[in-house]
Amino acid sequence: MAEAGSFADRVKQQADIVRVVGEYVRLKKTGKDFSGLCPFHQEKTPSFTVSPIKQIFYCFGCGKGGDVYNFVMDMEKCEFPEAVKVVAEKCGIAVPRQKERSLEERKENQQRSVLVEMHREAQTFFVKQLEGTPEGKAARAYLEDRGLDNDAIARFGIGYAPSGGDALLRHLKIKYNDKLLIESGLVSRDQSAGRLFDRFRRRITFPISNESGKIVAFGARALGDDMPKYLNSPETPIYSKSNVLYHMDRAKEALRRQDFAILVEGYMDVIAAARAGISNVVASCGTSLAETQIKLLGRFTKRVIVNYDPDTAGQAATERSLSLLLEQDFEVRVLALPPVGNQKADPDLFIRERGKDEYLKLLKEAPPYVDYLIARARQMDLTTGEGKQRALNFLLPYIQKIPNGILRSEWATRIAQQLRIDEPLLRSALSKAAKERRGEIKTQPELIGRTAKPVERRLIRMLAEGQDFRQELAQQLQNTQLYRGLETEKIFAALVIASLTGQPVQATEVGAVLEERDRRLFFEILFEDTNEPTREEAMSCVEALQHRQAEQELADVQRSIEANPAAPEMRGLLEKKQELMRRLAAAR
Ligand SMILES: [Zn+2]
Repeated sequence: MAEAGSFADRVKQQADIVRVVGEYVRLKKTGKDFSGLCPFHQEKTPSFTVSPIKQIFYCFGCGKGGDVYNFVMDMEKCEFPEAVKVVAEKCGIAVPRQKERSLEERKENQQRSVLVEMHREAQTFFVKQLEGTPEGKAARAYLEDRGLDNDAIARFGIGYAPSGGDALLRHLKIKYNDKLLIESGLVSRDQSAGRLFDRFRRRITFPISNESGKIVAFGARALGDDMPKYLNSPETPIYSKSNVLYHMDRAKEALRRQDFAILVEGYMDVIAAARAGISNVVASCGTSLAETQIKLLGRFTKRVIVNYDPDTAGQAATERSLSLLLEQDFEVRVLALPPVGNQKADPDLFIRERGKDEYLKLLKEAPPYVDYLIARARQMDLTTGEGKQRALNFLLPYIQKIPNGILRSEWATRIAQQLRIDEPLLRSALSKAAKERRGEIKTQPELIGRTAKPVERRLIRMLAEGQDFRQELAQQLQNTQLYRGLETEKIFAALVIASLTGQPVQATEVGAVLEERDRRLFFEILFEDTNEPTREEAMSCVEALQHRQAEQELADVQRSIEANPAAPEMRGLLEKKQELMRRLAAAR
């Protein structure tokens, strides 16, 4: 990642991992290292460790580890180039401007920044309309009716698009040409007359920001009975609705801290929740959630409570979202709000009428998605065999997605009871369905319990650290292949390759080529408290491995002898056996 001599590498050399991590985690010196509470998992006693000598961190609890860039990438949920920038800025190193690769790219960048600027100007315009025009006044009255005071209006940048049809157009036309106006999605062209007009008319406007807080689109609600009730910006070079979650820019912090998200349908729901002090809420802004939106959310938390509208569209959207969320390994609960009076309640209405505490209580009690689905299935006609089959077919695809076999089995029992379906029948349906998709089922690799003998641990440590005999040691291991067949074989293989280059070994790079459990073992070994190794010690470790190899060869030879005592090569085998026994005896 940080190639030698690159800007990233230079920044890494100058940055102090303890200082950078220390901005996020309260660290205490413990021996040579520093430790603190892991920011990546919940814990009460510190298992998160930072080594100033090795310039790496590792958490013995959750296994996260790496260099300063890995830490910042995980913490800020950003990509490598961004992490380099963050670290450079923290260390006061000037970041060179990224070279634009081509003229085309430069033009696109320019266009994008012009479009963002237009949105900023439109936002100012809409806000002014709401504040200072007679029409805006009517809009304010409507907002007040919905319980939105001046504070909320300002906080969420709510504005108003007037009814005239070309007010924004006239405002923007002074600076921007027709082509840009149309590309922005703020202005449309009348198909027949070719005339330009405002996309949003007589509507309350809600700015939609991308993840970094730049306004890239608007959502707009009709003030009167105009259809559609909700109208959004079209897809533009700066806005794709499947890439943006409303309120994500402000929810990030809370999502990470509370490690769960509340997913709602619309801006009004988000605004109601956020005003009640619930910040970890985002809206899909449309009834269906896209996979890219889920991936975006997944960078902050893997736990979500879906709280869509209780109408049919909302239910369908909930079920569609469930499938997608489960596929992306989310832990999902579903909140279906009870009616308020005789009205079906969306989060906005519910919070306004019943208050924040009641809402929080229901959130806490929100059932796992399987319970929600069973409740849905029970609404189907279960009096006939056909009806039961339909209910079962509705449930099966979701149940199959439960990764844990024991849980899946518990749910099968529960479903059988609740739907009064014969349990063996249900189980056979489940296992049949499971067989059909066996290929997709991911097996959780065994992450814990990986061990290595002291000799192996010691050698790994010597290879990873910059002792002067490291290269010699690597060469010897390479020639003799002494590490073949060891539990730690893959770690050795990676380290030997890295050592033979003559460059200092980068723990993170070695870790990156290893499987998860090997990577964890490797980092654990790096953080073991040990003495400085010597060349003599290295050689005696190598001897120990040779001894082990001889023992194994002896066992193999013995097996061959016993398997076929009449074999023509028996003489050679016996000689080999004698020689191995001599070698082993001498080593004792
Ligand atoms: Zn951790």
